Amino acid sequence: MIKRRKSRQIRVGGVAIGGDAPISIQSMTTTKTDDVDATLVQVHELATQGADIVRVAVPHEADARALPAIVRDGGVPIIADIHFSVRLAMMALEAGVHGLRLNPGNMRNPKHIKEVAESARQRGIPIRIGVNAGSLDRKLVAKYGRPTSDALVESALYEMSLLQEHGFDDIKVSVKHQNVPEMIAAYRSLADKTDVPLHLGVTEAGTLKQGVIKSAIGIGTLLAEGIGDTIRVSLTADSVEEVKAGKQILKSLGLREEGFDLVACPSCGRAELDVFALADEVEARIEKMDLPPMQIAVMGCEVNGPGEARDADIGIAAGPGRGLLFAKGKQIGWVPHDKLVDALLEAAERIAGEIRAEGDVVDGKVSVVKGAGRRNALLPISMGGPPG
Ligand code: SF4
Repeated sequence: MIKRRKSRQIRVGGVAIGGDAPISIQSMTTTKTDDVDATLVQVHELATQGADIVRVAVPHEADARALPAIVRDGGVPIIADIHFSVRLAMMALEAGVHGLRLNPGNMRNPKHIKEVAESARQRGIPIRIGVNAGSLDRKLVAKYGRPTSDALVESALYEMSLLQEHGFDDIKVSVKHQNVPEMIAAYRSLADKTDVPLHLGVTEAGTLKQGVIKSAIGIGTLLAEGIGDTIRVSLTADSVEEVKAGKQILKSLGLREEGFDLVACPSCGRAELDVFALADEVEARIEKMDLPPMQIAVMGCEVNGPGEARDADIGIAAGPGRGLLFAKGKQIGWVPHDKLVDALLEAAERIAGEIRAEGDVVDGKVSVVKGAGRRNALLPISMGGPPG
């Protein structure tokens, strides 16, 4: 069990962040925000994939004018990302956004900071201070020689003080760095100095492959230590991939139980079939099913396969010409290679029904999942045959 850092709780619309709230997943649209239709399509897509909160960039007045419609029809809490402009910040607040991402230091004029802080407080709108290695104040870079973790933390505490001196404390903070060890060090240090909720991310993490790995290490390390209340995986890729990666990070740490967990062997010279193709097909077809949290194993041979397949809710271990199907730890039967996926999915549907019946269902999601072979109920299945 991960013991989470005690942070203060804030709310972004209907989503609680910090305290004992579940760790939420955020992403950001890539459309021009003033293109309301295109932005809403992306907001809905991200929400459908599992984003709890979506951020939109508001660099121009036209973007701010689009916010009321996006907030009204978005279906998830919307955060407006503002830089420099008190006018855009005020327009976003008036539009009813659920949160601002704004660094008060960028606005420079104390009157403007006060104006935004007071308006946000009256409306109950939180502000995320987003310190970023790439846009750190030049004086801090000069002081530390480069954007170190200490420089990020000093900047974050200073930005927080600019809001706190106006009595505004409805804050969450990020200290993002593209260098993973610096990012980890910055968040660890900040977590020791404040109880504000922390928004985790590796900034400019890169393309899908590299960015997911960097983010999983940076965000995952901190989450495993109990640090972090909301996350964004920043990728140079479709934003949907950010949400998928975020979900996978949380699932891998046991911080979110949702959908399926695919256990698949890496294949080797013992494999009796094309494990890559089999796992890809299983994943593609299962993604389209509405399954409660469950583990599905796809294993390439009879040597190491049965153990993993038996431990999963549903599993297959391939043998020559056919594979052995397991459900909840029991051997169900042998299935020819060309029918393995169909048999697996048929069994998955049945197990899903049992899990739903057993689990505590809250808002359509099963919140309690008992593992795999530990349930030990034998399923009838139509496609088995005696071992040859
Ligand atoms: S399960 Fe079998 S095929 Fe897959 S990696 Fe292990 S030994 Fe190789």
